[in-house]
Amino acid sequence: MSTKDYLEKDYYKVLGVAKTASQDEIKKAYRKLARQYHPDANRNDSDAEEKFKEVSEAYDVLSDEKRRKEYDAVRAMPGGMRGGQQGGFGFDFGDLFGQQGGGGAGDRFGDLFGGLFNRGGTRTAGARRARRGADVETDVTLTFARAMNGVTVPIKLTSEAACPTCRGTGAKTGTVPRVCPNCEGTGQETRDLGGFGVQEPCHECHGRGLVVDDPCPTCHGSGRATGTRTVQARIPAGVADGQHLRLKGKGAPGENGGPAGDLNINIKVMPHPVFGRSGDNLTVTVPVTYPEAVLGAQIAVPTFQGQPVTMKLPEGTPNGRTLRVRGRGAPRRDGTRGDLLVTVEVHVPSKVDESTREELERLLAAGDGEELRGELAARARES
Ligand SMILES: [Zn+2]
Ligand SMILES: [Zn+2]
Repeated sequence: MSTKDYLEKDYYKVLGVAKTASQDEIKKAYRKLARQYHPDANRNDSDAEEKFKEVSEAYDVLSDEKRRKEYDAVRAMPGGMRGGQQGGFGFDFGDLFGQQGGGGAGDRFGDLFGGLFNRGGTRTAGARRARRGADVETDVTLTFARAMNGVTVPIKLTSEAACPTCRGTGAKTGTVPRVCPNCEGTGQETRDLGGFGVQEPCHECHGRGLVVDDPCPTCHGSGRATGTRTVQARIPAGVADGQHLRLKGKGAPGENGGPAGDLNINIKVMPHPVFGRSGDNLTVTVPVTYPEAVLGAQIAVPTFQGQPVTMKLPEGTPNGRTLRVRGRGAPRRDGTRGDLLVTVEVHVPSKVDESTREELERLLAAGDGEELRGELAARARES
């Protein structure tokens, strides 16, 4: 009896007993059917002969506790290995690799194997469950300009896929894995730890429940290959540092027709030497002279989009005041833009020429520095 027979034949159904049937019930059922289909009682009836063989085969397996256990284990494997299909093993590359040509990160061997065995066969309900692909997370670092303008970046993703040589079975071409004799296909074994048993992955099959006698030379029996694929991620204009983007359906491909997972991108934006970001607004610090601040002026302010804009600096603008240039900020999703926030910084020269020094000394003599600070001192005393 091969593993394939175990997969294809429902011995319980053949004998008409429940999966939990006792040995007595199995024996009883067998005897009744054997009498019914016995060749002696059905001469020249090939249907009956076939039925008799089936019944005998089922009884051979189910009446032997060890073989019954092995049979149950194979049938209990995940991913619908218990499909009732007939016929050979039709391998289809595309079927294993899903619709997008790359295996999902979360593939389990059982599903791959299930896919194999279900090719071209009738499917039992739910045998091949559609599964959503895994979400994938990645960091993307952008220059300030690219973040502002939007860019499509190729993102290389590695994912576990079925080995293309063995189609994920781990077995050399032309061979199939067999049920692990140590764990009888469960993938688990119980180790006795001074009186109590601890469940752990089977050491023979490393938890797969199947052993490969002749390993595939490409994957050395693991059935897996690490594939890389490149996703073109469209980063919208105006993304900011620390923002998270979710690109639907760009994550790991789904399995058995399930939808692909999402690609989650953590945006990092490199700082710009001149411009900063504050929400949708861009920020810039512009130096002005003391006379400009006092008397007011028309000043040219650089913008990120290119041409500088001329801005009116009002008379008596204090140092550190922030002025707003509308619509010159970062692009928003709705197509509008934030503002450019211009912070005025009164420039204090570290060195002046002789004529400037004379003028300043004149201002100093006429100035009211002590008076200014005197007011402050008075307020400090009051409070
Ligand atoms: Zn095992
Ligand atoms: Zn392989």
